[in-house]
Amino acid sequence: MDMWWSDWLFPKRCVGCDDFGSYLCSNCVNLLKAIDTPICPMCTKPFVSGKTHPKCQKPLGFDGLVAVFEHKYPTRRLISKLKYKFITDLYDDLTEILLSFTDFSSISDGAWLVVGVPLHKSRLNWRGFNQADELGKKLAQACGWEFETNVLLRTKKVKNQMELKRSDRLQNVKGIFAKGKNINRIKNKNVLLVDDVWTTGATMRECTKVLKRNGASKVWGLVVAR
Ligand SMILES: [Zn+2]
Ligand SMILES: [Zn+2]
Repeated sequence: MDMWWSDWLFPKRCVGCDDFGSYLCSNCVNLLKAIDTPICPMCTKPFVSGKTHPKCQKPLGFDGLVAVFEHKYPTRRLISKLKYKFITDLYDDLTEILLSFTDFSSISDGAWLVVGVPLHKSRLNWRGFNQADELGKKLAQACGWEFETNVLLRTKKVKNQMELKRSDRLQNVKGIFAKGKNINRIKNKNVLLVDDVWTTGATMRECTKVLKRNGASKVWGLVVAR
């Protein structure tokens, strides 16, 4: 077994149960609950394989959503650790787990350009990385897809969506995204928009509008938890 000085200084602990040895122990992997009822990302009602209902399709709307785990223990703890600090191994492990759990059949035939939901500049500076970008990069690497950053720009700092009522959440995120300096990369591409958590989807639907308005052919979302 390889032991690096960093393992000795910062031993790996399970993000679920705090046990030493790995970032996600086999017990906690077994507790991960895969989502078994995919939803249409536009109306959020159940629909086969996360495709947007034909009646919900809009020119600037989502085409589908892959959501992997239910947002509860230990996934909830895993996601809070993703934001806490950047640990490459944790992202590697998560990518491997996502790929083993997820049915990618609805998106696996496409060549995707992966884009992370952006953070506001002040939050990015404070945290030092964007967890959605880091995850998107790893996924793209693993699947042989393209990845691009600075495609979108978050222009306004908003209140945490989790702290708001549903109706306020929609208002809270309206118009908060603009095109970033690499927006031209998405022209005529199928974009896979990545984030850690789906709450109401309001944030990701706003991103999708900007992506479609700027020439993306198709936009699917991918989230770790819902
Ligand atoms: Zn554990
Ligand atoms: Zn629908």
